[in-house]
Amino acid sequence: MSSIHENLNAVKEQISEAAKAAGRSPNEINLLAVSKTFPPEDIREAHQWGQRMFGENYVQEGVQKIGDLKDLRADIEWHFIGPIQSNKSRDVAEHFDWVHSIDRLKIAQRLNDQRPDHLPPLNVCIQVNISGEESKSGIQPSEVLNLCSAIAHMPKLKLRGLMSIPEPTDNEAEQKESHRALFTIFRNLKENPEIQKLPVQLDTLSMGMSSDMTAAISEGSTMVRIGTAIFGKRTYL
Ligand SMILES: *Cc1c(COP(=O)(O)O)cnc(C)c1O
Repeated sequence: MSSIHENLNAVKEQISEAAKAAGRSPNEINLLAVSKTFPPEDIREAHQWGQRMFGENYVQEGVQKIGDLKDLRADIEWHFIGPIQSNKSRDVAEHFDWVHSIDRLKIAQRLNDQRPDHLPPLNVCIQVNISGEESKSGIQPSEVLNLCSAIAHMPKLKLRGLMSIPEPTDNEAEQKESHRALFTIFRNLKENPEIQKLPVQLDTLSMGMSSDMTAAISEGSTMVRIGTAIFGKRTYL
């Protein structure tokens, strides 16, 4: 067995265990393989073992790999999960199937305007800053409702849910606390009468990475974004 194959199996096992421990079905949790910094061959290999959803953080790198793996395009769902600068939004709108990292109205508007007509609406999640640090991206919880309402009216965007990148910690209780905070915002949003009037299908809570997936699943994650545990340690140039 290759290490990517073994790692994928181990991650799926961990997801399954975490789901069972939380009284949830493993089928409720999607696995997004975060392939940033890893070559197209590694993605091809993970695909060969059944993986279909891949996440990239850097626009240029992602677009390059989507091109390199054109033969698999219809069989892979590409998710953009990194920070989006205005001047890169067109590439995201034209090449990806999902964006998890919308953190301002202007970017949502640009993606909506730039999404080509021949493609289905871009699936989007709003990135929420739950740690409250100045430096981290993501909107404040108090702004979630307004941004959601605005996006719900954009024809080329399909609002799917929320995403967060909590401050890293090894303490499982702290991990759970952050994830619970996002879950609560998500639940309140779904129960909001204004939102219930809108034609949206809020089904995605994108939270949990290699080191906190168990805590995230116990707090309601529907999509974990896993890099290191599948592809190994990243080296940045
Ligand atoms: C890199 C990255 C991940 C994956 O992190 P690992 O710790 O390697 O699993 C998940 N989400 C985002 C937004 C990332 O940038």
